[in-house]
Amino acid sequence: MTGRKRAAGGEEMPGTGAIEGLLRRIEKPAALADGQGVIVAANEAFCRRAGLELAELRQRDLQQLCIADVTPLLKGTVAALSSDLLGSPGADGAIPLSLTRLEATATDDGEPPAPERGWCLLELLDQRVSLGDLDELVSARCPDGAVLLHLEVLQLDLVRGRLGIAACEALIEEIAHRLEAVLPSKGFFSRQGGDRLLALLPGSMGIDAVRDLAGELLASLEAPTTVLEHVIEPSLNVGISRCPEDGSEFALLLDAATRALEETHRQPFSSCCIAAPVERSVQLQELLARPLALAIEQEQLELAYQPIIELESGRVIAAEVLCRWDDPVLGRQSPADFIDVAEATAQISSLGRWVMERAFEALHRWDVAGLQLEKICVNVSPLQVQDPTWSSDLLMALERHRLTPDRIVLELTEGNIMEMSSHVANQLRDLRRQGFHLAMDDFGTGYSGLQRLTELPFSEVKIDRSLISAIDYDQLQQAMLSAVIRLSEATGITVVVEGVERSRQRQMLLTLGCRHGQGYQLSAPLSDLDLEALLQSQIFPAA
Ligand code: C2E
Ligand code: MG
Ligand code: MG
Repeated sequence: MTGRKRAAGGEEMPGTGAIEGLLRRIEKPAALADGQGVIVAANEAFCRRAGLELAELRQRDLQQLCIADVTPLLKGTVAALSSDLLGSPGADGAIPLSLTRLEATATDDGEPPAPERGWCLLELLDQRVSLGDLDELVSARCPDGAVLLHLEVLQLDLVRGRLGIAACEALIEEIAHRLEAVLPSKGFFSRQGGDRLLALLPGSMGIDAVRDLAGELLASLEAPTTVLEHVIEPSLNVGISRCPEDGSEFALLLDAATRALEETHRQPFSSCCIAAPVERSVQLQELLARPLALAIEQEQLELAYQPIIELESGRVIAAEVLCRWDDPVLGRQSPADFIDVAEATAQISSLGRWVMERAFEALHRWDVAGLQLEKICVNVSPLQVQDPTWSSDLLMALERHRLTPDRIVLELTEGNIMEMSSHVANQLRDLRRQGFHLAMDDFGTGYSGLQRLTELPFSEVKIDRSLISAIDYDQLQQAMLSAVIRLSEATGITVVVEGVERSRQRQMLLTLGCRHGQGYQLSAPLSDLDLEALLQSQIFPAA
């Protein structure tokens, strides 16, 4: 499939070169149609599905073809392409984006399509796509967050002016190749028109990982390329936003990435900017501060309890207390958001006190009922610890509910520990001496090495799910976890692995000598009643 296609009016249209290149690399059936719906290109998978040669497919009406011959086969897998690849944004205020679903909107049985690997070229259609569609894409395909890259190819106008549109397209194609080599394979990629590209990468990414990715992107373009016998050094500006940090809706993500892209224009050279997270936290604060205060005051928050399981036996050995907030007007809020707001608006102490009181009360109730739960784990923000009354409140609550400190695990995230004042550290040492357990939470998300574990008297380390996401097949992750387990065992620290989602992960964790885990495969966070029922039965799916 080579570079030129017939336009709606019959003349040769530029612009498909890069797209055809991408089409070739799509594993799923994908085809390309002009503005009138006439197929101009298709990948091999599409030809196979349709049972036709590419030559036979060309010039056929995509829509008719779907309806008449191959609808069931092609359902949801057909792509069409605008004749106006280089079209400029509309003046109607609509998102200047002409992308929509290439792959299945739904399977035959109405189920949403499973996320696949491999680049999925979102079709570039004449019609504009509603924000609702794009939001759906983000929420359906990126349940764990996403990163949106807004890429601007520099010198494109110059290349077009000097060397013509074909050179321009060849340059875009070359850039697309290089980006493909750097970007994670699971993603959605689209040309937004002109010199702009968008890449939506499912999965959450820490700010440092995003920076690394951006660095790799820019580095990948450093080598010059030859286009129509001219040597060109391609370069890009990149604006990056993240979901949920910068918003969970596509429009917010695009806004943030575009603002970040505009920031790059201040630089004299090709560069990358990540959307400033401050703006989002300010927005969130404005939105959530008052309702949160009300929710705390009126005790509208709830607690969920996620079991921590002995992997070998399936026994519940502890439960992590997770705060939930379902606001009657704003809806369910993510703890990552409202805990941030609580910290920023000095409400974390009252929130934390409420959590502690309710959790201790529940543990006491279960004790009285004869249920066996060794410990509960409470997330603690250093700002709480800084509050001069916090530790006395903690001890009083413990006494009130007739519990001993060895029943309580205080979880502190790795990032928080790095910023901790010596006063907070001393308080925690003191509590540890009194018998409280201390856990380093989300280990692996910050930059701290294993030596951090020795700075406070931790009794537990909770390995972040990002470090075990591929533990069942990735040898590097296996080696890293083995090292952490060995070191922790040598220093008497218990390892708990977070985010166990597959039974294969569980098997591998057992093989590597990891004894305790938490995650959806073992149990989702439960209501107090559901945890009670579970403790009564203590039955878990075998590994
Ligand atoms: P965390 O302490 O690391 O809690 C574990 C988070 O991972 C929870 O998210 C839990 O629902 C989620 N999770 C558990 N198993 C899996 C799994 O298999 N896969 C995936 N993808 N996720 C899993 P949640 O409830 O959204 O809480 C997020 C964070 O908010 C917590 O992370 C904790 O840092 C904070 N948080 C929650 N409740 C409180 C609280 O009462 N006080 C404070 N200070 N922080 C809290
Ligand atoms: Mg935790
Ligand atoms: Mg954690």
